[in-house]
Amino acid sequence: MNGSPASAPPKLEDFRRITVKVGSSLLVDSAQGCVRRDWLAALAADIAELHAKKADVLVVSSGSIALGRKVLGLPEKDLELEDSQAAAAVGQIALARIWAEVLADRKITAGQILVTFGDTEERRRYLNARATIARLLSARAVPVINENDTVATNEIRYGDNDRLAARVATMASADLLILLSDVAGLYSAPPLENPDAILVPVVSRVTAEIEAMAGGAASRNSRGGMRTKIEAAKIATTGGTHMLIADGRVLHPVARLRDGAPCTWFLTGSNPVTARKKWIAGALEPRGALHIDAGAATAMTNGKSLLPAGVTRVEGNFARGDCVVIRNATGGEIGRGLVAYDASEAVLIAGRNSQDIAQILGAPGRTAIIHRDDMVVAGE
Ligand code: GLU
Repeated sequence: MNGSPASAPPKLEDFRRITVKVGSSLLVDSAQGCVRRDWLAALAADIAELHAKKADVLVVSSGSIALGRKVLGLPEKDLELEDSQAAAAVGQIALARIWAEVLADRKITAGQILVTFGDTEERRRYLNARATIARLLSARAVPVINENDTVATNEIRYGDNDRLAARVATMASADLLILLSDVAGLYSAPPLENPDAILVPVVSRVTAEIEAMAGGAASRNSRGGMRTKIEAAKIATTGGTHMLIADGRVLHPVARLRDGAPCTWFLTGSNPVTARKKWIAGALEPRGALHIDAGAATAMTNGKSLLPAGVTRVEGNFARGDCVVIRNATGGEIGRGLVAYDASEAVLIAGRNSQDIAQILGAPGRTAIIHRDDMVVAGE
């Protein structure tokens, strides 16, 4: 969907890549410590419906700690870090299995991805994670993502899946993030204490006033309260992804949204590809340059990736994931992009056919030296 700053909320069927975030309190029956299977099966049916309409779907699912805790006989709250890590190690197995099962019942393949903070924040690891997600989606699988809580430590972890989901959604260039929650959306004041609080249907910019509405409470099973959801909204909308918060406590929560259930939309002004391209064009310090021949320059202007075969000279000492300038035969800058190889490798594969990469480098690598999604062409 193209980002439009219109105040009327968009429609679910307009989106082509949707991330659905499911919190622990929806997924896990906290008294029993088991998955609410009927609810999950209904959600899987909703996901299958989006998928059948050709949308790519990603799931960010919490629940590993809530599921593992009971099995290990650990208390319900205030777990020590080691306890959360151990609970996650046990619970994640069950979580991944149940997602694989409910999606398989809808003839959809699930792929588990466990990410750490470093995987989304460090450029080269970010590119790796993004490439894996892109490959799964191109195979029409549904990535089921959680934080790798077994190795995450307090200092370097998300801790809540709201912000993780927003980061993953922008990383995957999703155009919509749905946060299924135990509230219908953002209220003008915390609804439990304020019976007059009203649901805000559309937020077109996260202002200080919106942040003040969020309060801070989190339910027992989930880490995030409204505050982490607002943080998520900021990450998502800056990265070109629309976000909505909706009540997930009902059966078929996504289908109900399609049918007009109340929710809060957080709208972004730009589309995800443009947002990432802005990031590439503006925020990064180029670490080197690739000089390319006329054929490659034409291909690039026609929206193609840059292949090693078109590279005539490599300049600088960059690492994979760094931003480099792309120069034409006369040395003029024609674009910038995130390079898929270290400079030492780029020198070896420059001018060579992509099929020879494995033989030259001793390991298979990416076909493109700069993928078109990672590239800004001058004038774009
Ligand atoms: N990653 C945590 C888990 O799977 C959940 C974090 C959250 O509740 O947001 O248990």
